[in-house]
Formats: sequence, C-alpha cells, structure tokens
Amino acid sequence: MSIKIDYDKCCWRDGKCVSCDCGQSEACNGCVEICPVQAIVRKDKVEIDKEKCIECGACVAVCPKGAITLE
Ligand code: SF4
Ligand code: SF4
Repeated sequence: MSIKIDYDKCCWRDGKCVSCDCGQSEACNGCVEICPVQAIVRKDKVEIDKEKCIECGACVAVCPKGAITLE
C-alpha cells in the first residue's frame, strides 16, 4: 500500500486554491486536519510524508476532489 496525491486533481496549487466548485475554496484542508499523525502539510502544494503515514485512509475519504489514493 502506498499513499499518493494527484496534483492534477488537488485544488491547492502554488499556495492557493485554484477551484471554487467544492465550496471550500479557502479551507480545503480537510486532508490536513483529519490526518491522525500529521503526515500532511499544505504549503505551495499538499505534501504527504510517507514515512509518517499509517495508511488509515482518512484523507482519501475526506478529499472532495478524489486527489488522494491509497493503493
Ligand atoms: S492515509 Fe491516514 S495517516 Fe496517511 S496521510 Fe492519509 S490521513 Fe494521514
Ligand atoms: S482535501 Fe483534497 S483537494 Fe483539498 S487540499 Fe487536500 S488533497 Fe487537495
């Protein structure tokens, strides 16, 4: 199992949201907030620390864009 992020789908790019259709343009950080081990940070882009990730799948479920996969 490996956690991956599709940067074509994630709406957070260059430190800002580039899509408003999810209704969370300013606060699309559900992935960051839900991660129980603080493995996700949102900087210029969303970054996932694979060393910290425990593969719980919470971020996959919460992302409105389907940008995160665990496979
Ligand atoms: S799968 Fe779980 S532990 Fe891994 S980055 Fe997502 S929320 Fe965090
Ligand atoms: S919840 Fe999904 S779309 Fe929103 S910042 Fe996280 S990965 Fe990107």
